[in-house]
Amino acid sequence: MSDCVFCKIIAGQIPSEKVYEDEEFIVIKDIRPVAPTHLLAIYKKHVPTINDLELEDSKKMWRLFEVIKTVTKQRNIESYRIVQNNGKDSGQEVPHIHFHIIAGRRLGALG
Ligand code: 5GP
Ligand code: ZN
Repeated sequence: MSDCVFCKIIAGQIPSEKVYEDEEFIVIKDIRPVAPTHLLAIYKKHVPTINDLELEDSKKMWRLFEVIKTVTKQRNIESYRIVQNNGKDSGQEVPHIHFHIIAGRRLGALG
């Protein structure tokens, strides 16, 4: 997707602070962190939301939890929150599937 910010980051056309990369995911620092640690695990394939995932993605998406475990372990993070938005009312700003990894402060209740 030529006008997608995250596709451009994955392609190296927009700079980012990369903390991890493999064949399926890239993990970068969020440009507007809401906590001392705020990372984005971005699926490399341009899929807008969870509703757009297909069966063939399951083979690649299963890696997500290993990616989260790896980057949190690297940073000695024991307590963290995963946030994933789908659609405008959820607060999704970038329609390219990604998972926020938020840590480093006491987080309030969801709502
Ligand atoms: P969403 O609201 O779609 O769930 O999350 C998008 C996130 O991407 C936001 O937290 C926003 O700060 C972050 N973001 C948007 N543009 C950029 C960018 O160019 N670079 C980085 N590192 N983060 C971005
Ligand atoms: Zn994209």
